[in-house]
Amino acid sequence: MEEDKDKFSEWYLRILEDAELIDSRYPIKGMIIYRRWGLFIIRQMQQYLEKLLEDAGHEPTLFPVLIPDNVLGKETEHIAGFEEQVFWVTHAGANELERKLALRPTSETAMYETFRLWIRSHQDLPLKIHQSCTVYRYETKHTRPLIRGREFLWNEGHSAHIDDEDARKNIEEIKEIYGKLINEMLCLPFMVNRRPEWDRFPGATDTFAFDTIMPNGKTLQIATAHNLGQNFSKVFGITYEDEKGEHKHVYQTSYGPSFGRLLAALISVHGDEKGLVLPPEVAPIQCIIVPIFFKDADKERIQKYADKVRKKLDELGIRNDIDYSDDRPGNKFYHWEMKGVPLRIEAGPRDLEKNELTIVRRDTGKKSQIKFDRLCEIPKIFDEITENLRAVAKKKFNERLIKVKSIDEMKKSSGRGILSLGWCGKDECSEKIEKHVDILSVDDGKGKCIVCGKSGKSINSANTY
Ligand SMILES: [Zn+2]
Repeated sequence: MEEDKDKFSEWYLRILEDAELIDSRYPIKGMIIYRRWGLFIIRQMQQYLEKLLEDAGHEPTLFPVLIPDNVLGKETEHIAGFEEQVFWVTHAGANELERKLALRPTSETAMYETFRLWIRSHQDLPLKIHQSCTVYRYETKHTRPLIRGREFLWNEGHSAHIDDEDARKNIEEIKEIYGKLINEMLCLPFMVNRRPEWDRFPGATDTFAFDTIMPNGKTLQIATAHNLGQNFSKVFGITYEDEKGEHKHVYQTSYGPSFGRLLAALISVHGDEKGLVLPPEVAPIQCIIVPIFFKDADKERIQKYADKVRKKLDELGIRNDIDYSDDRPGNKFYHWEMKGVPLRIEAGPRDLEKNELTIVRRDTGKKSQIKFDRLCEIPKIFDEITENLRAVAKKKFNERLIKVKSIDEMKKSSGRGILSLGWCGKDECSEKIEKHVDILSVDDGKGKCIVCGKSGKSINSANTY
């Protein structure tokens, strides 16, 4: 799965269906059904993120999914960026609508029409709101479940500020909040790349992207944060009265992680040949109890013991289940390993005799015994699993950060991770670079151009999804 690209794609598509995360057989291309296992993980992320945003002063909102064409089209650069991707509602029954209505591709325009009404004075600022919702984009590139769809789930945050400084401060706060979601909760390593001018969000003055690396070496953008400057506030007329009674345009930012892409990265980065490996915090089932008995005479007392374990886990607030199916224990083990359950608890006759249990970690496969009255130590084991997943993923990520010094080296390393290289700043050189990799960021470092040798800037690049 590590090296072979096609093998990874195959593995990815198979695990989505086998683990019942989603079903991609819905009869509209690029639209999927989220099933229990996938939706549970997404809800965990959503709740965690919403709390962080609300603690940082965001108010929850929910705007309508439809945006009138004249509102969507107000900011010309913005609409130009999305024009090809908008789904339009043109009819109600047999009647053609007076105005075409767009299914939101993102909510800047819908919200900022209202920001104009909500913001009056400097006391109304900063204004920070967020919403978790679906957005719609008619993707023309090859669609891929959770990674590139025509309907996707995200959380979008929007803010308005008195000045540029306060807007920038908010972006820094968002970087921290997203960092917690991505790395602390999901144990995923990432890099924030400031996108080059030509790759910014339509209408933004600056775009920061959160990129992670998939097992096939391609990067996946999992979240973005944009500085919008006064572009939208000037077009939508969002002004406030300052202390001297003067009317000024607000400064704005917007940002969002894609829950689908986060789930895709979670599955891919931590998964192995047996299937999913889930951090305990997001796992729908954290402990699966497997009763083991060899003769029918044992059945009743083992079941009693398993029930007692379950009761204890319930008391400890651990999400758990007992597998009472008729399958052989070996098959049960495979099944729950494939589903990524962090800890398996086996309850057999020998365990019962000693009043203990056999526990097996999904991340390391390590087997050990635990006394019944030490089950309260399981949360500590969960912490160890979480730390281990984070460390293993970080190590793999670091191995994929590659410095290249020549075009030849770049060709050899393209598709293996994030390549950093030098670029003089001239188009003729970047064209040669972009034949092999996409440019994630251009910074004022000092690098020697890998094409012409002149000194200039430094670039992060990769093959991207
Ligand atoms: Zn050059």
